[in-house]
Amino acid sequence: MPAPLYVSTRGGGGPVPFRDALLTGLAPDGGLYVPTHVPALPEGWEGAPSLAALGADVLAPWLPEVAGLADLVADALSFPVPLVALDGDWAGVHILELFHGPTLSFKDVGARTMARLMADALDGEDVTILAATSGDTGSAVADGFAGVPGVCVVLLYPKDGVSAVQERQLIVARDGVQALAVEGTFDDCQRLVKAAFADRARSGRRLSSANSINIGRLLPQMLYHTWALCQLGTPATVVVPSGNLGNLTAGALARMAGLPIGGFVAAHNANDGFARFLTGGEAPSAATVPTLSNAMDVGIPSNFERLRSLFSDDALQSLVHGETVSDAETLASMRAVHDATGYLADPHTAVGLEAVRRLRLAGDDGPMVVLSTAHPAKFPDAVEEATGVTPEAPQRLASLWDAPTAVETIPAELEALRRFI
Ligand SMILES: *Cc1c(COP(=O)(O)O)cnc(C)c1O
Repeated sequence: MPAPLYVSTRGGGGPVPFRDALLTGLAPDGGLYVPTHVPALPEGWEGAPSLAALGADVLAPWLPEVAGLADLVADALSFPVPLVALDGDWAGVHILELFHGPTLSFKDVGARTMARLMADALDGEDVTILAATSGDTGSAVADGFAGVPGVCVVLLYPKDGVSAVQERQLIVARDGVQALAVEGTFDDCQRLVKAAFADRARSGRRLSSANSINIGRLLPQMLYHTWALCQLGTPATVVVPSGNLGNLTAGALARMAGLPIGGFVAAHNANDGFARFLTGGEAPSAATVPTLSNAMDVGIPSNFERLRSLFSDDALQSLVHGETVSDAETLASMRAVHDATGYLADPHTAVGLEAVRRLRLAGDDGPMVVLSTAHPAKFPDAVEEATGVTPEAPQRLASLWDAPTAVETIPAELEALRRFI
């Protein structure tokens, strides 16, 4: 079967090849790109010897035109992603630690792979990459593109919406990267990026996005789910700490490709419009509420549109179960898991662990995998408040505090952003 083409969730325009979808980010009608079909997982995926080997195999049918895909994926995924088994009362629960990359969040997996795919597709052409970030995307994208010739990166983050460590990771001076602290929320940042795209004819420069709306970030995220089940060796329920729903959408694609996932749990903080939709509510539309798990503070998840174009509402509601976890419950979850097992979870992972606790309390004792999305040392205050333990910061975090920084503050208006494009 030929590789998938990509069509807009809003039905406008014809199907485009991967390269166009990757480089434009958003379809011309403002929709998100979705594949025309989903290639099956390659035979023998269960036996892959490493994440990089699995990654090359899983992505090959999607990206036949990328010469040297195996080397590209191995270079992007050059850090461990272990599956850790909890014990005692938590036996049967596994945590996939996706946070051992350069910026200590799971976003390194998608962003590093996408940066390399873009560099390959651009073949020397100049581009400005716009990335709205709720905390972790921006630094992963900046790190992923660092040193790629012809690429400028503009990062937009909510000025008071990220942790001190996250902010430091965003504003550390990097060649070709401009960090912008936006006086607004993450949804304002996303809106600005969309507006800049709508306006792109004016700027005369090639613009692309590096959010999970970009298909180039979505496809590599199928590997979280595939690598988890490859290591586990049995079907499982996958618990996804969710914000913009990129991780969940990628998992859904992996399942469509044949991955034996029983079902998904979308674990949300107070920004739970999707969880409410899953029990018959309206489409998410609420303003963002700030929480301890700030990378999931998304009122209007952009991948919701994608999920709805891939599944009927009924199918989505039976595939995904939603849970809402408050900040108090997040702290209690960190404490309970640490007391019972010694495991230190960051606030995002703790939202997922609280969802697990509830499912097990309700009698679901099948194997479960929680996708752990950030290193606890990125959120030292919350971890210490909950557990009394200060998470040990890896060296690359500690050294950030001595590095030079560069950031501009702008109002949440397109006019202000335009100056930087
Ligand atoms: C981005 C992020 C999330 C949410 O992931 P989505 O794919 O946007 O749903 C969860 N946890 C952390 C730490 C993140 O950085």
